[in-house]
Amino acid sequence: MIASFTYSALPMRVRFGAGSLSALPEEVAALGLTRVLVLCSPEQEDTGRLVAAALGDRAAGVLAEARMHVPVEVAHRAREVAAELGADGCVAVGGGSAVGLGKAIALEHGLPVIAVPTTYAGSEMTPIWGLTEGGAKRTGRDSRVLPASVVYDPELTVSLPAQLSATSGMNAVAHAVEGLYAPDASPIVSLMAEEGTRALAAALPRVVADGADLDARGEAQYGAWLCGVVLGATTMSLHHKLCHTLGGTLDLPHAQTHTVVLPHALAYNRPAVPGAVAALTRALGGAPDPARELWELAGRLGAPRSLAELGMAERDIERIADLAVANPYSNPRPVTRDGVAALLRAAWAGEPPV
Ligand code: NAD
Repeated sequence: MIASFTYSALPMRVRFGAGSLSALPEEVAALGLTRVLVLCSPEQEDTGRLVAAALGDRAAGVLAEARMHVPVEVAHRAREVAAELGADGCVAVGGGSAVGLGKAIALEHGLPVIAVPTTYAGSEMTPIWGLTEGGAKRTGRDSRVLPASVVYDPELTVSLPAQLSATSGMNAVAHAVEGLYAPDASPIVSLMAEEGTRALAAALPRVVADGADLDARGEAQYGAWLCGVVLGATTMSLHHKLCHTLGGTLDLPHAQTHTVVLPHALAYNRPAVPGAVAALTRALGGAPDPARELWELAGRLGAPRSLAELGMAERDIERIADLAVANPYSNPRPVTRDGVAALLRAAWAGEPPV
């Protein structure tokens, strides 16, 4: 029997495919924008300038200052630059950091964002914004920050290094895993979560073997898109809470942290979510224990599997466990302090999930 559910579709427009960056001027024009500010991280300034050149007169400037977790100072500056240039919209080119900066401008000034994602983080599919001040990250949902249009061009992901491709892809799978057992899960979202996981699990080994394989890049980005939709449509649980705490408190790298924690968080919830386990088993080629299979997959991809490797000190395990249970949140299995501490110890040491 299909359980009762509520499903709200978010308005979104997607242009997908190798070479689709050439459609960006059309997307900008279709939204009636004439002076867009191009946002990117310093490492991707060349790509940002290329995009601005393709936009010609419709580009008001390039701001190559996006940084992980959107520090408020960076957000203030971006808002000022957008106002000084008289920008009427933003084109965010890059990963979650560039898209997050576009969202920070949209949140305050209401300027529409067009996203051109170059990682698999999925922020472009969500109305979730984040801002970091004094080491603490605030997040919220606001329909104004959902990008008005998204251009997925796998050619732009060819330069994403193998290691980041692997961890960013696992970050996307984490959205699908938690979407499958979310309190607001629905059959439609579950379809996308299963298919997104299947596509990423199939594509990532090929992407890591040959980063220029456009077919594999396309399949990975298709999977990331679906997983991003799942993230935008559902409420995340223990896994995202833990990664948020680890990233915010210890400044651990986003995608790598997700990669290490995911098998352990799934193993923790496994007894309470048989439907999600069955969907993941199908998506992961019949693996009876999807938590173990995700841990194995990370190993095959050469991705990190321990929090120690990411720079976390063993003494921080207890502190993070305390923080992770400080505020209640939804999770299919009751979250206990001891349970979280055991999970973190295994993830810290790089042990297989139990
Ligand atoms: P990122 O955007 O910080 O990118 C990581 C690095 O990779 C940067 O230096 C970037 O310039 C570089 N890079 C990106 N694409 C590249 C490419 N194709 N070629 C070469 N280099 C490339 O990392 P991310 O993992 O995409 O995003 C993480 C951030 O996004 C975090 O702050 C996270 O909280 C946020 N996020 C938000 C949401 C949301 O819904 N609000 C969703 C996912 C992630």
